Amino acid sequence: MNRVYNFAPGPSTLPLPVLERAAAEMTDTNGTGQSVMEMSHRSKDFKPIIEKTETLLRSLMGIPANYKVLFLQGGASLQFAMVPLNLAGVNVGEARKKAAYIDTGVWSSKAFAEAGKYVEARIAASSKDKAYSYIPAAPAPAVDDAYYHITLNNTIVGTKWASVPDTGSVPLVADISSCILSEPLDVSRFGVLYAGAQKNLGPAGTTVVIIRDELIGKAPEWVPAMLRYDIHEKEDSMYNTPPCYGIYIIGLVLEWLQNLGGVPAIYELNKQKAALFYSYLESSKLFSSPIDKNFRSLMNIPFVASGASPDKQAELEARFVKEAADASLVNLAGHRLVGGMRASLYNAMPIDGVKALIAFMDAFEKKSI
Ligand SMILES: *Cc1c(COP(=O)(O)O)cnc(C)c1O
Repeated sequence: MNRVYNFAPGPSTLPLPVLERAAAEMTDTNGTGQSVMEMSHRSKDFKPIIEKTETLLRSLMGIPANYKVLFLQGGASLQFAMVPLNLAGVNVGEARKKAAYIDTGVWSSKAFAEAGKYVEARIAASSKDKAYSYIPAAPAPAVDDAYYHITLNNTIVGTKWASVPDTGSVPLVADISSCILSEPLDVSRFGVLYAGAQKNLGPAGTTVVIIRDELIGKAPEWVPAMLRYDIHEKEDSMYNTPPCYGIYIIGLVLEWLQNLGGVPAIYELNKQKAALFYSYLESSKLFSSPIDKNFRSLMNIPFVASGASPDKQAELEARFVKEAADASLVNLAGHRLVGGMRASLYNAMPIDGVKALIAFMDAFEKKSI
């Protein structure tokens, strides 16, 4: 077998034991004589699978009893619309409700733009002035804000909030797609948390929403059934056929995480991996991090060949990405909007992958300058 180290931002690497177990159970899961893909979602065979996934997520994240967990589809991007529709949607003719957005990069700008179709959304603070290389101070919400939206970890630029802002009685909503389960998080500080699965949880196609129960049931009647938290909650994520196989794989990933020691253990490991990589970048004469030290992500680490002469930098970076791929270190190109390189070090990236990348970069640096 020839596995690569995959530094992709998403879909991204999954734990090998999870893939091996899924392979072993592909044609006969739990002695049912069926693949999970073939099971009725309402059957006695699938029920324990979705229940196990939810129970594990609740215990690993410490989700309080007054929060509901929903397994939906449409990715984090559909939540950009579902959040405003469900928390602040109004009927035709009624005054629009207000919502605050903190603009920390591409995903938060997209969330803001989508919300503007349904609510009076405003950008309460932004770090666009410095290419999103930091997290701005979070101003207090307005008393009549229906909610306050942040992107907790910014996958593309590689920043994360150093602490969770206090929004008082205004529900705090966070996109945690690229940092879910990577470090401890006090769920009770939030009204809604949402994450597409393909970064730290499992396959693309499944979306996890964690919502305080008092925020469910506020959508106006015209909001389509599939976009309503109240319907998905009432039907236990089975209003229609849920993404069964994705939910099953998430369950295996969560079991793997639990066996490792849960979030506190993976957090220690994530800190070690990120510290190794950032400290290499600090010492490198070729590569550097463009991100403010106070707000550096543990999960997504962009870097540039700033030590190269400006006229050669782009060419050198392209060569780096190609040669790294030839050495089985794949998907290191930065996002098409920001360029440079990026190493995503999600939960499933072993520390040996980080060490292999650093050794490769060190050798590349020595032969390049
Ligand atoms: C990947 C990502 C998204 C987009 O997720 P989709 O599931 O493709 O909609 C949104 N927000 C963040 C923070 C992401 O990392």
